[in-house]
Amino acid sequence: MNVKSTGFPLIQSHRLEAPQGSFMENVEVILIGEGPFILFDAGYPECVPEMLSWVESRAGGALEKLVLTHHHFDHSGGAKAICERFGVTAYAHPLEMRLLEEEQPGLPVSPIREGEFVELGEMRLEAILTPGHSPGHLSFWWKEERILLGGDNVLLPSTTAVTAPRGNLGDYLESLEKVKKLAPRLIYPGHGPVIEDPISRIDELIEHRKMRDAQYLEALEAGHDTPAKIAEQIYQDLPEGKRKLGACVIELHLERFVKSGEVACADGRYSLTTGPL
Ligand SMILES: [Zn+2]
Repeated sequence: MNVKSTGFPLIQSHRLEAPQGSFMENVEVILIGEGPFILFDAGYPECVPEMLSWVESRAGGALEKLVLTHHHFDHSGGAKAICERFGVTAYAHPLEMRLLEEEQPGLPVSPIREGEFVELGEMRLEAILTPGHSPGHLSFWWKEERILLGGDNVLLPSTTAVTAPRGNLGDYLESLEKVKKLAPRLIYPGHGPVIEDPISRIDELIEHRKMRDAQYLEALEAGHDTPAKIAEQIYQDLPEGKRKLGACVIELHLERFVKSGEVACADGRYSLTTGPL
């Protein structure tokens, strides 16, 4: 069991190792408060026993609610177990509630919307809508301490998967800018270590997307005219599964260029409209 000391007793983040073959290596579940407590995210379904025993050891029976940053199974897989064990309700953005209903029918979920607060004594965390990775993805802002529970919006060292059909690259980039404006001092992410220099990390992530944009346009100019062909060209070293995911990412980048008029698409084939780069 890997329990991190965060230096902030009001926030405890616990890392659950991902089951074999998962896209991410681990996921964080975060407990806030000194008693009672609120849990943010509930981990993989495969990690339920470890997650429950961690929450029990830290919170005892004093868990007030579960809040989900988004519906993905690596964050919500243990939700039902938490709700049943502690008799609590889960909270999620209405757009995520719909997806949770499809994937986990019977899970008790109540809505939490942008601008609403998760309150625990004097601690108030504001729900900030940060879509892109998922349509109703929420981050939670503790303004007094300038700490953000960031879900999957800002990660380190990995980057966030923004893929079709539910991901949206334009929304994702706007969410990064939105979080940058908050000027957080620390971000507790959904995967990986606490981010101690959030602004530089956000800048890096924005730069990374721009670099990818340039790469994809170059590949397009060289005649690779579908996301799959571009992925084959750029992600030669990746295993097939990840290359396929790469193609989904490329599709979103290209679709954004189609909207802005720089790229045209006909019968699934893409081409530049602005001449050579
Ligand atoms: Zn996710």
